[in-house]
Amino acid sequence: MRTVFVGPPGSGKGTQSRLLSERYGLVLIGTGDLLREAVASGSAHGVEAEHYMSRGQLVPDAVVNQIVSDFFHGKCPPPRFVLDGYPRTVSQAEYLDRALSDCHLGLSRVILFTVPVEELVRRIESRRHAENRADDTAGTVRQRLQTYEESTRPVVDYYRAKGLLAEVDATGDVEAIHQKVVALLK
Ligand code: AMP
Repeated sequence: MRTVFVGPPGSGKGTQSRLLSERYGLVLIGTGDLLREAVASGSAHGVEAEHYMSRGQLVPDAVVNQIVSDFFHGKCPPPRFVLDGYPRTVSQAEYLDRALSDCHLGLSRVILFTVPVEELVRRIESRRHAENRADDTAGTVRQRLQTYEESTRPVVDYYRAKGLLAEVDATGDVEAIHQKVVALLK
């Protein structure tokens, strides 16, 4: 099973990708987490990424693609994985397609997590207090939602056109959402 989780900030794709990877033994690749690690390590990629993340903007494709490729040690992706928050642009989706097809692999499914915008804002506000994430400030939330609409919506259309997209209503109980995701991946 090779799946991509896509959705706006606060849609719960991080929580759901962790749950899926733990219960089904999929390798979890979360570019937000990888980028936060790069920032904390003070690497060149981290310094560049921090500039964009703190403003609620996307980190340039070249940096993110390189971080994903580094995660695979420049080799083929593992046979079973869940990608959380990548790709976020059509250019990243095309890069991923090439990387997978070079390894004679394809995606099984792309899951879109949908949540009404007022609920997203409410969730990010409470996450800000719980996790103290630098980019969960009131100022960047609106920017991140706008970035999602502008840059990541086209990724949804890209996968829909390929017949890979499945949508899940991501409001309500975490366990119930997990079960809906599992049903869509069967
Ligand atoms: P996340 O934890 O997935 O919400 O990501 C936090 C931040 O990391 C985003 O707001 C972006 O600034 C950056 N980021 C994560 N994944 C990507 C990606 N695939 N492309 C560009 N920027 C990303």
